Amino acid sequence: MFEARQLMLFYENMLALNNVSLQCEADRIVGVFGANSAGKSTLMYTLSGIMEDIQKKEQMAGGERITIRGEIIFQGRDVTHLKPSLRARAGIILCPERRRIFPECTVVENLMIGGYLANSSQTEETLGYVFNLFPALTRISKRLGGFLSGGEQQMLAIGRSLMAQPRLLLLDEPLLGLSPMIQYMLAKSIKEIRNQRGAAIIVAEQYARPIMPIIDYGYILENGAAVVDGTNKELMDNPDVKSAYFGQ
Ligand code: ATP
Repeated sequence: MFEARQLMLFYENMLALNNVSLQCEADRIVGVFGANSAGKSTLMYTLSGIMEDIQKKEQMAGGERITIRGEIIFQGRDVTHLKPSLRARAGIILCPERRRIFPECTVVENLMIGGYLANSSQTEETLGYVFNLFPALTRISKRLGGFLSGGEQQMLAIGRSLMAQPRLLLLDEPLLGLSPMIQYMLAKSIKEIRNQRGAAIIVAEQYARPIMPIIDYGYILENGAAVVDGTNKELMDNPDVKSAYFGQ
């Protein structure tokens, strides 16, 4: 359903993605785990097409040269060089690192902005779904985004992505900076989204522990390369993964 083949990405001469191939089927959660600077955001930007935009802007500004190689196939279609807006229309939706909530807009307004690709019945249905999934957002629906806690912002960021009707949801470090309790709550919600919405989900994370139990398949990214992959059981049984990601 979704496949990245032999992705290579250079920032000038610096290799940030080194021959990364990954797959994600509908109704599946795929994890991409890696430490700081492993290349997780670079990968998410490349899959969502934002990297194409960054590349063009750098070119126009005479900035650094970004080179992308490889193929990205979504539902049988080659989307490697498709603009991010057209990828979003096709159902590839990025929920970015650090949430990027609009601080001057209320919770509901942030959600409605996410729904710009949806028709009115989808908007109404998904709005109801998001408030059901994250009841905490209901109480604060009129509060400005800039006044939300980190956990509330992350729920809102995921909710806003859902409003765009994803077929493939890309979650970039959704647990960053949150308390363990909120991390486990969000991991459970991500699993519910997979079960209830039928979307494919790729989640990039540093913190493997809360996410590992909910994934169907995972990749370990080191210095831009996918060095190990397997089911969650295979990864959790791998001594190298255990010592690097679970401190054992
Ligand atoms: P983190 O968890 O800290 O967000 P990450 O795994 O998401 O890390 P990336 O942000 O993808 O890692 O960065 C991968 C590597 O590419 C890093 O060494 C980073 O410094 C470098 N890099 C990222 N963006 C650029 C850029 N625009 N120009 C040059 N190098 C970059």
